[in-house]
Amino acid sequence: MRVLVVEDEPKMAELLRRGLHEEGLVADVALSGAVALQRVADTKYDVIVLDVMLPDISGIAVCRQLRADGVWSPVLILTARDDIQDRVAGLDAGADDYLVKPFAFDELLARIRALLRRGTAERPAVLEVEGLRLDPATHRVWALDEEVSLTPREFALLETFMRRPDQVLTRDQLLEQVWDLGSEQRSNVVDVYVRFLRSKLDGPYGRQTIETVRGVGYRLAPLAR
Ligand code: CA
Repeated sequence: MRVLVVEDEPKMAELLRRGLHEEGLVADVALSGAVALQRVADTKYDVIVLDVMLPDISGIAVCRQLRADGVWSPVLILTARDDIQDRVAGLDAGADDYLVKPFAFDELLARIRALLRRGTAERPAVLEVEGLRLDPATHRVWALDEEVSLTPREFALLETFMRRPDQVLTRDQLLEQVWDLGSEQRSNVVDVYVRFLRSKLDGPYGRQTIETVRGVGYRLAPLAR
């Protein structure tokens, strides 16, 4: 089993490399995001441990690039602090798990083993619903074959609707799926983001992609062609 450790602090990187080696894993080190992308282009890794704070490209951008390049090795990101934004951004970018620094080496090892057991995921399928196309791997969206640019949160909301095309989703269901449960639960955040999505998907064309179901919530509606 071969692990890539992407960590710019040489001492920390060496500590991890040696620790993993003692556990019988082959570990390579990349001290920057650019070197990490190079390594992954040359070698197949069973797990990638990826620090978010890197001097050149952020770990999150590295992860997004890997997924866009069709690399599906499990990725465990390391965040410097208990920062929800970094964790969410990392998971949105296609990471499989995260660990907050400082961490115990045993916990890192346990998580790496869990990812090794799970193995390399298949590339997720592109979702297509009535004129909308969404690629979970590259985070791209098209409405009637025109590419639409969405923020990560808008993307997550649209993906939630597209995975349940005929269902009415309540604000609570949407909050649970798209927003961190620990965050302040205000139902109007859902309304605000539905409005953002409508303006991007429907704006110039007079369509209505997301229907309001009065007193219940929202439903993805077919696009009129
Ligand atoms: Ca770092």
